[in-house]
Amino acid sequence: MPAYFDHNATTPLLPAAREAWLRASDRHWHNPSSLYREAGLASQALETVRARLADLLGAEPERLVFTSGATEANNMLFAGLSRCLAPDACVAISAVEHPSVREAARSWLGRARVTEIPVDEHGRVTVGRLEDVIRRHRPALVSVMAANNESGVLQPWPELLTLCRSHGVRFHADASQWVGKMDSSRLGACDYVTVSGHKFGGAKGAGFLLLADEQESFPLLVGGPQEAGRRAGTENLPAVEAVAAALEHLAADLESVAVRQGSLRDEFIERMKALFPGLRVISEGAPRLWNTVLMVMPRHPNLKWLTRLSRLGLAISTGSACSSGREGSSVVVQALGADWDELRRVVRVSGGWQTGRDEWQELASGFEQAASGLDEEAAGRS
Ligand code: PMP
Repeated sequence: MPAYFDHNATTPLLPAAREAWLRASDRHWHNPSSLYREAGLASQALETVRARLADLLGAEPERLVFTSGATEANNMLFAGLSRCLAPDACVAISAVEHPSVREAARSWLGRARVTEIPVDEHGRVTVGRLEDVIRRHRPALVSVMAANNESGVLQPWPELLTLCRSHGVRFHADASQWVGKMDSSRLGACDYVTVSGHKFGGAKGAGFLLLADEQESFPLLVGGPQEAGRRAGTENLPAVEAVAAALEHLAADLESVAVRQGSLRDEFIERMKALFPGLRVISEGAPRLWNTVLMVMPRHPNLKWLTRLSRLGLAISTGSACSSGREGSSVVVQALGADWDELRRVVRVSGGWQTGRDEWQELASGFEQAASGLDEEAAGRS
């Protein structure tokens, strides 16, 4: 069985999610917009699942619009803002945002209206840096991801939200990597929140955007009146049932998972440092997701490590699967000012909720084995 260490890219369907998906597909396959009894039941089921998900985030159900995932949710937000903000209003986004925030903001609003919030040496947006940007640029909205997909760094979003509130600025959190891994019960306090179901064992192609209130409507897809006119297209009830089931399942046990997995991850880091003197873990001094390690290998390009490990049945990545730009490059490491040589040596490892000590140790042994092959290959070339 291959060991999977790319959970920040996507996750396998949880058994509870699979069950919920099948149940909804069998029972509620009717179109929720149709007018007979079975369709009404499907429509009721959709509203129940909306309420369950909103409740998990501490938000009112009327704020939640289902989408095909986080990319669509982020586009919905910036497309909507492009229609309702004053023509000269700008938004501020962190320098380490996912491309679906960065490119969506630039594309819908225009580059000139997107200001970047610099990050500190750990890749974090500090209250001081954000305050500086707010005072200088007076943005209408601040967008900072809750947890970083590459480094796992946790942004201090509750403090950033408080600061935004005190300046009357709206706050968006792309919480794609936070939800399912960290306590999400207070995220609803943000004006806008993006969630992606396939990052925590729910179905792919399903997620949502929390809007500021029930009146707000930022339709990106137009057509039918689904989602109260906020998103046209037949609703994917089985997928959102799976997302809710996955999140409810994980929310029950998050704290102990975080402690257990965090210590297995740290044991892995210690072994890697012993095996590879000079290895650098990005943002090691900052609070991070319990499952993620972004590291700069002391030698050999990341794609070579990835290929060797893949042959051993070990799946890792070279930063973000969605990173645009150069092959294998990392947005976060670029924002931290790394040079090209370092960028090429970045690898990301992201474990899961059930990853065992044996798998973490197998991964470290895999790196050891890959190293001898790569060292030999390099010696043969020189
Ligand atoms: N935002 C973040 C922080 C992500 O990690 C991802 C997935 N890599 C996305 C947005 C896009 O998610 P989706 O695949 O649901 O479009």
